[in-house]
Amino acid sequence: MLLETRALTADYGQFRALFGVDVTVAAGECVAVIGANGAGKSTLMRSIAGVLANAPGMVLHRGEPIGALSSAAVMKRGIAMVPEGRRLFPSLTVEENLLIGGEARKVAGPWSLASVYALFPVLKERRHHPGTALSGGQQQMVAIGRALMSNPELLLCDEISLGLAPVVIRDVYAALPKIRAAGAAVVVVEQDIGKALSVADRVYCMMEGRVTLSARASEVTREAVHAAYFGAA
Ligand code: ATP
Repeated sequence: MLLETRALTADYGQFRALFGVDVTVAAGECVAVIGANGAGKSTLMRSIAGVLANAPGMVLHRGEPIGALSSAAVMKRGIAMVPEGRRLFPSLTVEENLLIGGEARKVAGPWSLASVYALFPVLKERRHHPGTALSGGQQQMVAIGRALMSNPELLLCDEISLGLAPVVIRDVYAALPKIRAAGAAVVVVEQDIGKALSVADRVYCMMEGRVTLSARASEVTREAVHAAYFGAA
């Protein structure tokens, strides 16, 4: 298994945000994690990406525990996160933001400035602009491109559609199949159930820090998602 969490817990001080979460991601797979505000989706991503430390054996990458590693060390292993809110370096240009992603992990692979610009041509046009001078959708493309520059084998995307217009969301989501075709597994965290199911092989639904549904995207029913997302009526 490329990535696995086993009985993963996460705490913010006294507050427990995850209660024994088990998820798996196979190489090349696209997995969606859906759930309402506060369900624990971002906490799960942060736990995998090394932003939140966790106990030995709770997060495994290719069978090896990585829960104690820093986010930089996790990235070096080929797990890159597109964080919620994009978090570009505001004083740097588009191209500088992208190049910083490449510094995080220098390995040969499909992703380079040229291939990121081919994926998102508008970024090439705007490469000398500061990241913050871009539209929200363009900033999201920079955040995705920056993560790709490390040639990850697993890309964690935290709410990449948040705050974007539907037509822009469509453009951003159109990149995901191409990213997979280039070899990466992708996890998409979403509140938009339809969007998540449109790209994913499998889906996990979370509620209040627990996984309430695990299913193949093609087999999941609207009723099951509704119950897992909002709780049984
Ligand atoms: P959202 O869609 O709002 O990002 P989410 O499903 O990603 O929701 P998390 O952000 O993982 O949920 O939050 C899970 C729980 O942990 C929530 O109750 C939230 O209030 C709490 N939480 C998140 N970050 C912190 C923090 N830094 N300190 C304390 N509590 C936090």
